[in-house]
Amino acid sequence: MKNQMHVTATRHFQRSSRPTCPSHQSVDLLWIPITAVTRHVRRQPYRDTEPMASLFTKLINGEIPAERIYETDHELAFLDINPKSRGHTLVVPKLEVASFHELPPDAACSLVVTLQKVAAGIVRAMGTTHYNVVLNNGAIAGQIVFHVHFHIIPRYEEADRSRGRGLGDSETLETVGEEIRRALEHLEAG
Ligand code: 5GP
Repeated sequence: MKNQMHVTATRHFQRSSRPTCPSHQSVDLLWIPITAVTRHVRRQPYRDTEPMASLFTKLINGEIPAERIYETDHELAFLDINPKSRGHTLVVPKLEVASFHELPPDAACSLVVTLQKVAAGIVRAMGTTHYNVVLNNGAIAGQIVFHVHFHIIPRYEEADRSRGRGLGDSETLETVGEEIRRALEHLEAG
């Protein structure tokens, strides 16, 4: 009886607490007038010229090279150019918004779902279940690139895997990127 109650309560908990990700359709609608949204969200005064694309928008558009590891219609994940550990990854919405709290709920939801998927790929590829998920919001909080992004920073016991030189070498980034891409393909296939 006690067990039965537990099962019922758990089911109820799962049902009522499962987040409902709004459909992506409204993200698509928002994504089309991206410069208009950006201007509004950043509260920039009206200018005759379009605002400059953020560093990460340029990277998303392929104007800046990056070790890209996962992409959806709405997000891109790529390795940080200055990694704090092997596998340090950034997950970025394609919608160019500076602050997390200003992202439309659809885009925030989709971003977190992708964040979790990429984290699973990193866990599989890097062989550690230890990692930090970090979002720096605002300059005082350490944000340098004003386009929302989550960091996934794997953590290892051995000091040489979390520190040391060479982590940002293009060869190392390429190797790590390939390992994570393969792990994600494996997860998607399975
Ligand atoms: P923030 O302090 O804004 O949260 O972090 C920005 C991150 O972007 C930093 O960790 C930095 O190393 C990374 N970053 C800056 N420029 C580039 C770039 O051109 N390519 C890549 N892959 N990462 C970058």
